[in-house]
Amino acid sequence: MSLNKFKQLNNKCTDACCSGIHNEHEADIAEPVQSGATVFSLSGLDCADCAAKLEKRIAMMKGVSAAKVNFSTSKMTVTHSVSERDIITTVQQAGYQAVRHGGKIISNPWWQQPRMLAAAASGVLLTAALIIDRAGLNAIPLYIMVMLTGGFHVAKSGFYALKSMTLDMNFLMITAALGAAAIGEWSEGATVVFLFAFGNALQAYTMDKTRSSIRSLMELAPPEALVRINGNEIRTRVEEISIGDTVIVKPGERIAVDGTVSGGSSAVNQAAITGESMPVNKQTGDSVYAGTVNTHGALEITVTRKAGDSTLAKIMHSVEEAQAQKAPMQQFVDIFAKYYTPAVILFAVLIAAVPPLFFGAEFGTWFYRALVLLVISCPCALVISTPVSIVSAIGNSSRNGVLIKGGVFMERLGQVKAVAFDKTGTLTHGRPEITDVLPFEPSFTAEKLLTLAAAVERWSEHPVAKAVTAGAADYTALPSENFIAFPGRGAKADVNGQTVYVGNARLFEESGFNTGRYDTDVSKLEEQGKTVIFIGYANTVCGAVAVADTLRHNSREAVQALRKAGISHITMLTGDNSRAAAAISSVLDTDGVYSGLLPEDKAAAVRELKSKYGTVAMIGDGVNDAPALALADIGIAMGVAGSDTALETADIALMSDELNKLPYVIKLSRKTLAVIKQNITFSIGLKVLFIAGTFFGFVNLWLAVLADMGASLIVTLNGMRLIRKI
Ligand code: ADP
Ligand code: MG
Repeated sequence: MSLNKFKQLNNKCTDACCSGIHNEHEADIAEPVQSGATVFSLSGLDCADCAAKLEKRIAMMKGVSAAKVNFSTSKMTVTHSVSERDIITTVQQAGYQAVRHGGKIISNPWWQQPRMLAAAASGVLLTAALIIDRAGLNAIPLYIMVMLTGGFHVAKSGFYALKSMTLDMNFLMITAALGAAAIGEWSEGATVVFLFAFGNALQAYTMDKTRSSIRSLMELAPPEALVRINGNEIRTRVEEISIGDTVIVKPGERIAVDGTVSGGSSAVNQAAITGESMPVNKQTGDSVYAGTVNTHGALEITVTRKAGDSTLAKIMHSVEEAQAQKAPMQQFVDIFAKYYTPAVILFAVLIAAVPPLFFGAEFGTWFYRALVLLVISCPCALVISTPVSIVSAIGNSSRNGVLIKGGVFMERLGQVKAVAFDKTGTLTHGRPEITDVLPFEPSFTAEKLLTLAAAVERWSEHPVAKAVTAGAADYTALPSENFIAFPGRGAKADVNGQTVYVGNARLFEESGFNTGRYDTDVSKLEEQGKTVIFIGYANTVCGAVAVADTLRHNSREAVQALRKAGISHITMLTGDNSRAAAAISSVLDTDGVYSGLLPEDKAAAVRELKSKYGTVAMIGDGVNDAPALALADIGIAMGVAGSDTALETADIALMSDELNKLPYVIKLSRKTLAVIKQNITFSIGLKVLFIAGTFFGFVNLWLAVLADMGASLIVTLNGMRLIRKI
């Protein structure tokens, strides 16, 4: 896992360039482009295999030092010294379209795409030829025309593949068709060409559709915003807006930039970012994100990020990178395909040669069977089965405010046995409030105690500290210095020359205080689920303060939904005391609880869960639980919108605080795994069936092509089911 994370971070430097957004607004979101590299958007890529071949071809061009084609996102990154024009021409020669990323691919409707048109024309010609053939007339010239129209693009791609020394499907299909013609099977040869051309065009079309439907579902930020400059409101393009500018958002408008509200109040629909269906109330000081919709009030926003750095832009990059990452299952498919194709071709050669040469069998029959095998050697459906499913599933989850960083995590999530929750900030709101103030020393009033505690805590970011400072807000603050935090324990600082400690019993015991005699008072509070912290100096415990956090309304539901989804072990991890932890755990009905944990103990607890139950997912807010998140098989961060580190380091990021996204994403992963397995089984099964069938002469050429094209299409459509609601 840690290795994976490292790889991902590393990938960011190179992959960032080939990820991005392409749609009408794409030029509006700045792309971090690596120097010397150009990103191209491609269209017409119909199989992962073709992507690899195109990559090889571009990389072989003179003046190109590196090329990377990303099948899932249809992007190509090239480091080059030749002109972009030359690269685009080469891509076109290979049968695809390319434009510099940021430009717009002119995507004609299918009836205007050359490949689709050629396929359709050859279909018409084929029908005519078959009719003439039936009538007993000479249809050979027409069959030749079918092969020329339908086979032109195929042959061109096949020829270029041959030049780059790759065994290409296009080449094999043409060989099969020519072979058929050579033994007088003109109608078969022509049908092969037509079906292959048509199938490919259709496949390219569906893949482009899948990609664009995912893109359009993640709605984008507007390209312009109203900026207030010297009292005037001026429509400005987002890339010209700087941090600190004031942007006005009218009711009903989509927000164009990330920022904080500086005036007005409204409810904002954040579904595009967090997947939350209910609008969220926003007032002065609240963060808003580009791409979200302002519902009723007017908002004045102070810009906090450049358009290219917005949360939405980051999400989009992340999604595209994730879609490009290979799932482990894909690696199996790749290895299989690598050996499968040459093996079947070898088998084809043997079948053409051995029976006629050694057993006196008729050459024509076995040569024909060999041609059928050439067609069957295409692993098309198999190769496409995994990526199309992963792309769809990741598209689905990102629309629901869940970022999955790649197929690997999708696969792992499908196998999760145990789930560990961090308590504070995850199961609870992480916004505790003071409930009790207990001065132990006669000279201390509640006010004096709180003021002293707040003097230390005002330097701390911890939720408990926030509660204390809020509780002392009405009193005059005491100056303090030399603040030191003890993670999972508390903090200390110097107040009026005295070192004041604020923290839990563990901190006090370790620092030489004796808290034993307050045990009864403290345990009573803790049994109510409260967190008690002590305040003291010079070995005297001056008093204690109890704070209580509220559970998120959907925590209990989430735990139940996970159990229903078949997660056998649900645990809570917390740095809080055992009594409070037990009280909360019993409300939530978790299977286990680890309490009194220091941040590093949380990691140890995850390790223990892993050895006991297998695949473990850990959900936290990233505060104090980063090591545990990293150690878990899947680290899930929640409430990530606006936090870049959490967005980058988590394997799965829940943009909102909605814990019910968790059972959703587990279900989605399982479904994805199931679809991938169906696809792989179906494509391999079909191949086995056809190879056996060929051997016994049950399969003819056009049936083999039809099966291949049909299988690719079925597999694609099956994968595309994952875009829909789960
Ligand atoms: P959690 O696992 O609930 O997120 P932490 O590991 O952050 O908890 O903290 C564990 C415990 O340490 C808290 O419940 C609290 O008692 C104590 N603690 C940590 N930081 C502070 C602080 N700044 N002030 C007071 N108590 C603290
Ligand atoms: Mg925490």
